[in-house]
Amino acid sequence: MSERSTLRGSRLGARSYEDERGVEFAERQVIAYSCPIGHRFDVTFSTEAEVPALWDCPRCGAEALRQASERPEEKPLKPARTHWDMLLERRSIEELEALLDERLELLRAGLLPGAAHLAANARERKKTA
Ligand SMILES: [Zn+2]
Repeated sequence: MSERSTLRGSRLGARSYEDERGVEFAERQVIAYSCPIGHRFDVTFSTEAEVPALWDCPRCGAEALRQASERPEEKPLKPARTHWDMLLERRSIEELEALLDERLELLRAGLLPGAAHLAANARERKKTA
């Protein structure tokens, strides 16, 4: 019992303001992580540090994923525009079909740069057909 109070006393004494004087502490942030089997833990980073999305779980060693401290506001998910969507905004299907035919003809004739092997394949197929 007396041993315990001595320990506590020394701990309190060690946390003296004298020791911290003149020391500039970097701003810190606590980031929560959770691993695939559900271990949750916090890692303290400087606010200037780039916080990694993954951190090794101290309990099982698996890669733990950073948890968002605050759930970001739910936004209605706007489907990402694909190249195809953008193309359709500029051209109609009819136009695209005409373009495709045009390009295929050039391709088969070996007139498209970098497509020589495709043209060769087409010629090969014609030969065997
Ligand atoms: Zn774990």
